[in-house]
Amino acid sequence: MQHTVSQLLRERGIALSAPIALKECRILRPYLLERSGIGDGTAFLFAVPYYTTECDDPARNISAYAVSRDYHRFFAALFDEILPILREHFPQNKFAGFTDHSPMAEGEAAVRAGLGFFGCNHLFLTEAYSSYVFLGEIVTDAVLNAPAGEIKVCKGCGACRAACPVDLTVAECLSALTQKKGDLNEAERQAVLAHGCAWGCDRCQEACPVTLQAKKSGTIYTTIPFFKEQAVSHLTAEALRAMSDEAFAERAYSWRGRAVILRNLELLEKGEPT
Ligand code: SF4
Ligand code: SF4
Repeated sequence: MQHTVSQLLRERGIALSAPIALKECRILRPYLLERSGIGDGTAFLFAVPYYTTECDDPARNISAYAVSRDYHRFFAALFDEILPILREHFPQNKFAGFTDHSPMAEGEAAVRAGLGFFGCNHLFLTEAYSSYVFLGEIVTDAVLNAPAGEIKVCKGCGACRAACPVDLTVAECLSALTQKKGDLNEAERQAVLAHGCAWGCDRCQEACPVTLQAKKSGTIYTTIPFFKEQAVSHLTAEALRAMSDEAFAERAYSWRGRAVILRNLELLEKGEPT
C-alpha cells in the first residue's frame, strides 16, 4: 500500500510522502476519523510544494502561498482522483483525505513521519522546498508497520527572528494583521505601509538559510501545473475590483472577503495614511 500511495502522489508532483501509525499521532479532531469510519490505522503524510517562478517577482506584494489559486481546490481535486483508485486497489480498506482541517496535528505528524523538521518560526520545513509546502494526509484503517521518529528542529540560526519587522511580544504578526477584518488603527496602518505587503508576510521564511539553499539548488520550485497556472504575483486595487466573483473565490485571500485585501491594497497605493 505504501508503494501505491507514494507512486500516486509522485505521479502528481508530490515527491515527499511517508506513513505514520495513527496511534503515534496527536489526534485533535477524532470526529473526522469517526466520520470516515476509521479507528486505528495509518496516516500517509505528504508535502505539496507550491513555490513558483512568479514568487521570485521583486514586485510581488502578496504572500507566496497566495500567488497561485487556493490550494484547497488542489487538494479537493487530488483526493477526488486518488481516493477512488486506492479504494479500488484495496477494497477491504477505508480511505479519507485531509488538509488543514485535519484529524491530527499535521506538522508534528509530518516531522515524526520523517518528511522534515520544525523551524524556530514554528513552520514545518523540508530540505527541498523549505517551508513552501502545504501538508496533507491520506488516512486509512490499514495498520502498517510505520513507527514514528523523533521531533527534529532546525539549527536555530536566528535569521528568521532577525528578519521579522515587528516585535512579536508587543505587536501582531503582519500576516495576521493583513487578514484582519474591519478598520485598522493608525499603528496597524503604519505597519502595513512599512511592510508593503497586501496579504501575508514571508520575510521570516525568505531569510531562512533552508529557503536560500532550496532556491540556490532550484529544488524549491513546484512542478505541479495547478500552482503554475494562473499565478498572479502582483495585485492592484483596480485588478481586484475587476475580478469576477468566480475568479476571486479561487484565490486564497478570498476567505476574508474582498474588502480586507482591497483595504490593504488601497492603503499601499495611496501611500502615507491621512
Ligand atoms: S510572517 Fe512576517 S511579521 Fe510574521 S513572524 Fe514572519 S517575518 Fe514576522
Ligand atoms: S532562519 Fe534559522 S532559526 Fe529560523 S527557521 Fe530557519 S534555520 Fe531555523
